Amino acid sequence: MEEKEYDVVIIGGGPSVSICAISLKKLNPSLRVCIIDRKKFPRDKACGDGLGPGVHKIVIELGLNHLFSSQEPIEKLAISSPNGYELNSTLPKMGSMKPLGFVIPRIDFDNGLILEARKLNVDILEEFEFENIEDRGIFNTDVIIKKDNDRLVLKCKVVIGADGARSKLRRVLNIPYNSDNNTGIAIRYYCEMEGYNEMSLRLDFLKEINPGYGWLFPINKNYANIGVGIDVSKLKERNLNLDEMFESYLKYLNGKIKIKVIHESKMNYILPYGCEMPPLVNSVNKVLIGDAASMINPFTGEGIFYGMYAGKSLSDHIYNKLHNSKELTIGLKSFEKNFKRNFNKHYKINNTTKHLMGTVFSNLAIRACQKDPEILKEGIELMMGERRNFSPINLVKIIIKGLF
Ligand SMILES: Cc1cc2nc3c(=O)[nH]c(=O)nc-3n(C[C@H](O)[C@H](O)[C@H](O)COP(=O)(O)OP(=O)(O)OC[C@H]3O[C@@H](n4cnc5c(N)ncnc54)[C@H](O)[C@@H]3O)c2cc1C
Repeated sequence: MEEKEYDVVIIGGGPSVSICAISLKKLNPSLRVCIIDRKKFPRDKACGDGLGPGVHKIVIELGLNHLFSSQEPIEKLAISSPNGYELNSTLPKMGSMKPLGFVIPRIDFDNGLILEARKLNVDILEEFEFENIEDRGIFNTDVIIKKDNDRLVLKCKVVIGADGARSKLRRVLNIPYNSDNNTGIAIRYYCEMEGYNEMSLRLDFLKEINPGYGWLFPINKNYANIGVGIDVSKLKERNLNLDEMFESYLKYLNGKIKIKVIHESKMNYILPYGCEMPPLVNSVNKVLIGDAASMINPFTGEGIFYGMYAGKSLSDHIYNKLHNSKELTIGLKSFEKNFKRNFNKHYKINNTTKHLMGTVFSNLAIRACQKDPEILKEGIELMMGERRNFSPINLVKIIIKGLF
């Protein structure tokens, strides 16, 4: 079998991966980094294409602003509750940066990131399927990949698995996938629109699709990514059907906007939530990030930010430690500790909020957010930032301002 040698081999070509590779090469250009993906880029991916302010921040930090240059930024958020209350708000300031969202089809966004990685001399091996790993010693692993009947061995110090929600590396490492309770499923279509004037990220928790939610993320005023999502356990328990839920959501939207669904664009897939995140660093040098490591927000379905954050943070922790196994071990451990400290509670509180959205609480919260910018700011930091709790004072205010 042909062999190649790298410092880091990354499986998957999604945003978690590209950001990790780009950041590694920017911090230490001498590193030998390789990305393998079973698809050829540009490739599509089932997604709402919504990029929250956290993604914008990471992209700016890495000097990749031009990836957003052709896209109209989104400054507004709209959320509706099952009882028909609706919140329309500009995204409140989080830290010093103006918070901006974007909606960029994944076929373009992911390809743009892969091209950036290639410019930095990251080897991109497309249409190669990851097959297996074999350890040869400490920080010395063979990654076996195949294309048609050809096999290739990639020798490396660290293997990163960001090969999506049904990660093969996770399976090879014997780590079970998330339970149905902590997995979502969602369907998306691209749609043409007439009469849509609001460029806002729209999330609808309607009674027609309760306990699921719908989204309308506009790419421009005439074209949007529209979809519905729900927990797999709820879908099964209530014998619901994603296509029927999408039809109900469309009926609701058609009352406001004229929509033409592009049926061939239909795609669906699962979303592993962060409430059941597995160990990130496994048998010394195998790291899982992104959907492969169940990093999706259970409330908003946002996954790109968390995967990118993990990719960037991992590179920050290891870029200068790859020649010393003791230091590398410490770097990897500290990456995992840091990520879990930042996000474990964040995922939990978002999970609780999701369950409350189907109850009277959502009406109270939306009314309170309309009246009080501080509550709104905290709510959005919780959904789209790194916030880990809701202050008790604001919880009391939600009840008072929501009721009166
Ligand atoms: C319908 C839907 C809507 C969503 N909407 C949003 C949204 O609006 N905003 C948001 O932030 N998140 C959203 N998410 C979640 C988001 O799509 C994921 O969190 C994100 O794509 C994770 O990125 P990743 O890099 O971890 O993996 P992925 O983007 O899944 O990439 C994994 C890559 O690995 C490759 N691969 C898989 N197996 C192998 C193998 N054996 N060998 C080689 N390559 C392999 C695949 O080809 C793929 O390119 C949505 C998810 C779904 C399903």
